[in-house]
Amino acid sequence: MQVIEGPLRKNHDRWEEGGAASILRPFSTGHESRGTILSSEDTRPVRVRFAPSPTGKLHVGGARTAIYNWAFARAHKGTFILRIDDTDPTRSTEENTQVILRAMRWLGLDWDEGPDVGGPCGPYKQTDRLDTYRDAAQRLVSEGRAYYCFCSAEKLAADRKAAEERHDPFQGYQRSCRGIDPAEAQRRVDAGEPYTIRIKVPDGRGDVAIHDAVHGDVIFNARELDDFIIFRSDGTPTYNFATVVDDADMGITHVIRGDDHLSNTPRQVMVYEALGAPTPVFAHISMILGPDGKKLSKRHGATSVEEYRDAGYLPDAFVNYLALLGWALDGETTIIPRDVLAHEFSLDHVSKNPATFDPKKLDWIQGQYIQAMDTERFVFDVLMPELVEAGLEREADPTHPKAWYLLLADILKPRTTLAGDVVEKSRFLYEGDEVTFDERSVEKNLRGDYAPAALEAASRALSGVSEGSWHAASIDAALEPLPEALGTNKRKFYGAVRVAACGNQVSPPLGASLELLGRDTTLARIERALPLAR
Ligand code: GLU
Repeated sequence: MQVIEGPLRKNHDRWEEGGAASILRPFSTGHESRGTILSSEDTRPVRVRFAPSPTGKLHVGGARTAIYNWAFARAHKGTFILRIDDTDPTRSTEENTQVILRAMRWLGLDWDEGPDVGGPCGPYKQTDRLDTYRDAAQRLVSEGRAYYCFCSAEKLAADRKAAEERHDPFQGYQRSCRGIDPAEAQRRVDAGEPYTIRIKVPDGRGDVAIHDAVHGDVIFNARELDDFIIFRSDGTPTYNFATVVDDADMGITHVIRGDDHLSNTPRQVMVYEALGAPTPVFAHISMILGPDGKKLSKRHGATSVEEYRDAGYLPDAFVNYLALLGWALDGETTIIPRDVLAHEFSLDHVSKNPATFDPKKLDWIQGQYIQAMDTERFVFDVLMPELVEAGLEREADPTHPKAWYLLLADILKPRTTLAGDVVEKSRFLYEGDEVTFDERSVEKNLRGDYAPAALEAASRALSGVSEGSWHAASIDAALEPLPEALGTNKRKFYGAVRVAACGNQVSPPLGASLELLGRDTTLARIERALPLAR
């Protein structure tokens, strides 16, 4: 486990005190009131799924849903399934599917079953499962739980209008085809008449109560329940049908998803009942709002996981932050490494209130993860990839020995929030003798009368440090007496040397910077800067 000092200590202490087992709540007791567990007869092992529609990139909200499903599966020693809901052919693309898989991998949310890895309930892409939906719909028709409907769009519109005119509160499907004799309906289908398939909401079904693990009991009025379409006339299943067929087929025990799907749930319950499959526990998680209280969208800035990856966030920090959008460990701990999350996540700590996306908190958490990284990991996970990406280094053939990168990492880490921050702060080390001068820094630090003398004195003192003892400590020691000897103030003296050697006034600590730069390059750069100072 990665050890992070500070707020996290608390968790470690709890682990050490109680042992891992004692904080894992038994799955079969407690919390019934919010429906977080299956009914006592249902002893199935936990199986959850994340089912994105590949109609776009993986967004922050989807990523949080994926994290909750993943963490819930891990915390309950269950199975996490990734399923691609691509039944909307006009908006789903293979490219988006690949983008989503890449984002999931980057987040480190490994799936036990799904595309790429397969599994016993495959295929895991809805377009590859059309036969399953067709068979299920046919079975419901033959069992009298669903029926063929031949109503044209015009008839449906006319029925709706008539219901409106007579102020009927129910303006859904008038069940015109429900009474057609099944043999007659079959003859019409066989004769090629266009049809849809509708579910038959059982007479007297009554209200549908959903015991949502987040929202508590939600009751849907039976009158609202339509004999809705499960199969369209073009031979494709509707979302409410395909999803339930899959969830039932895949043995899903908990459906954790965005609360925009809460209103679909009573219909889905009808499908479970028709299929004779156990209804899972539902957990509908709240919306994510932008800082202005409106639903998080492009207007608020980056919304896709990729954008955060490219901006230089660490996947661990990003997962930690997203997990806290609507879930809390104990109300105060903010640094929750993924293994703690995977151990401690529970639905009864999920809030039903909308969560607000706070970029400042994300950056703060990111900073904590960066600072907690050990130097070597910082080199391999942050520094090198960024330098390679910026074209300053080649992965296979590093320019310097490992110790050089460790020293650079040591001085950059405290100055880094986003991974990309290291590039600009390292660039001066890759410019050979010809550093690029920052105009403002030159104006401020090299134009004073003291500057030529400062550079000459620094050059002399540094020439006295041999190649073999060219280390930050001896460099600092050689420079240290000079401001006083020259009668100039320290800030001015070091400013001049810094800009001469590093090109700007904001480089990392001077001794270490010059050590990294090397003796020859440092002396050559000071020499080249002299004319600027005179
Ligand atoms: N494909 C649906 C979506 O992306 C999934 C809904 C569900 O989890 O049932 O919103």
